[in-house]
Amino acid sequence: MSDTGRAVVIGASRGIGLGLAGEFLTRGWQVTATAREGADNEALKALGERHGDRLAIRSVELADLSGVEQLADHAPIDALVIVAGIMGPSHQRAEQATPAELGALFWTNAAAPIALARRLLSAVRRGGSVVFISSRMGSVTLNEEGDRELYRASKAALNSLSRGLACHEARAAGVGVLNLHPGWVKTDMGGDDAPVTVEQSASGIVDVVSAHFNNPGQRFLDYTGAPLAW
Ligand code: NDP
Repeated sequence: MSDTGRAVVIGASRGIGLGLAGEFLTRGWQVTATAREGADNEALKALGERHGDRLAIRSVELADLSGVEQLADHAPIDALVIVAGIMGPSHQRAEQATPAELGALFWTNAAAPIALARRLLSAVRRGGSVVFISSRMGSVTLNEEGDRELYRASKAALNSLSRGLACHEARAAGVGVLNLHPGWVKTDMGGDDAPVTVEQSASGIVDVVSAHFNNPGQRFLDYTGAPLAW
């Protein structure tokens, strides 16, 4: 395997996903990047203008997983990177949450990424990776602040659910599973005080993904490749 391949980036209209699509393209990868139907994806289209026919833009909505099946046409996938995610309700308190709020948060951040990965796993080549953009905030061990409890729980749920995929289908298919913390990144979600730029995060993530080709198993790492406690 060379240092390039085909990356599929889910949730690339803005933020870290957009940065990742750009970083993969800069390094010569073929990229399929998804945005939601009707989302403002002008920045993504501008990437296409710069990188010509190496970028395919498709639409995927995590709420109902519409658009996922068409991505199987882009096999073999070397890195399936699921970035899309939400912070959840602003109160962030379990006792204030409605079932609908919890459903949307846990579906989007935890269950939908796993369902999507399962649907596309046969399109990922042996030795390739499924990459879940998780968060250090999903670590139970490292949680000493206890803030943003609903968001933290949704990423902990992603980490837990991904273990099922890693132990069963991904292992059988020879596909690695990376749960990656992108850093605290300056985006709409991360805010202006975040110390890490989108470019630094994306560059680190692509390094980590490339370093784990043909290296099956599951790991929880940050964007510099440092291991994190679950
Ligand atoms: P942004 O809020 O900037 O971007 C979120 C992205 O997810 C957008 O492309 C958005 O699309 C997409 N998205 C949200 N909901 C859906 C959905 N239902 N279907 C399809 N796409 C959807 O977030 P970031 O770039 O900061 O974060 C990206 C990931 O990194 C998230 O999973 C986040 O939890 C994680 N993360 C971020 C950190 C940070 O500091 N920024 C730290 C740790 C983890 P649209 O434009 O259509 O809304």
